[in-house]
Amino acid sequence: MIVVLKHGVQRDKREQLIHWLEKQGLRIHISEGEYQTVLGLIGDTTHIDMDLVDSLEIVDSVKRVTEPFKCCNRKFHPEDMVVEVGDVKIGGGHFVLIAGPCSVESEEQIVTVAAAVKAAGAKILRGGAFKPRTSPYDFSGLKATGLELLRIARKETGLPIVTELMDVRDLELFADVDIIQVGARNMQNFDLLRELGRTDKPILLKRGLANTLKELLMSAEYIMSSGNERVILCERGIRTFTDYTRNTLDLSAVPMLHELTHLPVIVDPSHATGIARIVPNMALAGTAAGADGIMIEVHNDPINALCDGAQSLRPEEYAALTEKIFAVRKVVAP
Ligand code: PEP
Ligand code: MN
Repeated sequence: MIVVLKHGVQRDKREQLIHWLEKQGLRIHISEGEYQTVLGLIGDTTHIDMDLVDSLEIVDSVKRVTEPFKCCNRKFHPEDMVVEVGDVKIGGGHFVLIAGPCSVESEEQIVTVAAAVKAAGAKILRGGAFKPRTSPYDFSGLKATGLELLRIARKETGLPIVTELMDVRDLELFADVDIIQVGARNMQNFDLLRELGRTDKPILLKRGLANTLKELLMSAEYIMSSGNERVILCERGIRTFTDYTRNTLDLSAVPMLHELTHLPVIVDPSHATGIARIVPNMALAGTAAGADGIMIEVHNDPINALCDGAQSLRPEEYAALTEKIFAVRKVVAP
C-alpha cells in the first residue's frame, strides 16, 4: 500500500502518521520527491483501514500495491534512483559506460585495458576475479590476486571498479570494491542477496539466464528489503531458442523495467550475443532502448583471452563504438 501525502504537510503530523502505521507492525519507506511525499507500507496491510487513512487531513490518496515487489516498485519511489559511485552517477538521466575484460589476467592486461577504455569514455572498469564457469576445468579467475590487480588499475586510472562476488564467504575481500556484481547464475542465490543487502555497496544485479522480469525485481527486493537500496539492474540476454547467438538480448526489458521500478537499468550486449562483431549494433540498440548504461567486454588481445575472447572488443573497436553510443544517447536523451 502507498500513502501519498498532500503537498507541504507539517513534519510532526507526518511523523504521527508514520508512528501510528509502525505500531500496526509495518515498515515505512519514505520517498520525498520535489512535489510529493510517498509513504510505502511494507508488511501485511490487509488489516489497515484504507478509508480511514484516506480520510486523514494530510493524506492525498491511498493505493494498494498489488505487485509482490515493494521497495523497488516505482509506485513507492516515483522519481528515478541515482546510484552514486564516487563522482560517477548512474540513473536518473546519468548515462554511464562500463568496460573491461571478462577476467583480470595480469597487471599489464588490466592496466592497459583500463587506460584504453577510460580514454574512450568509460567511467567504470569491469573485470572478473572470481569467475563462474560452466566447466570446473576452465580458468576460474585470479581470485584475491585479481582483486589486487583491479586496485592497481583503479589507482592508475582513477576508474571505480565493478567485479563479481560468487560466494558470501569472500565478502571480506570485497571491502574496497566500488560495485559488487551478482552474476546471472547467482541472481536467485537468496542468502547471498540478503547478505549484500546488509552492506553499503552498490550492487550490479544481472538478470538470470532464464528469469522473468518479476523474478529479477524480486531479487532486487531481497537486497533492498535487507537495507541496501543501491541496486543497478542489468539485462544481459536470456535463454531462448536462438541458435547463432549466445543468448537473446531482451531489449524491451529496458523500457518495461523503467516503468516498473525506479532503479537504473544497464545493458550488457557482450554476454547477450557472445560475438564481438554483433556487440556494437546491440550496444547501440540498448542505448536507443533507454538504458542508463552499457557494459562491454574489452580485451587487448582477444584471441588469447582466458575467458570470453570471442565476444571481446579490441580497444580501438571499443573507441569507435563509444562515439556512436554517445551520438545515439544524444538522440534518446537530448
Ligand atoms: C560477467 O559479467 O563476467 C558474467 C559472468 O556475466 P553473466 O553473469 O551475465 O553471465
Ligand atoms: Mn564474460
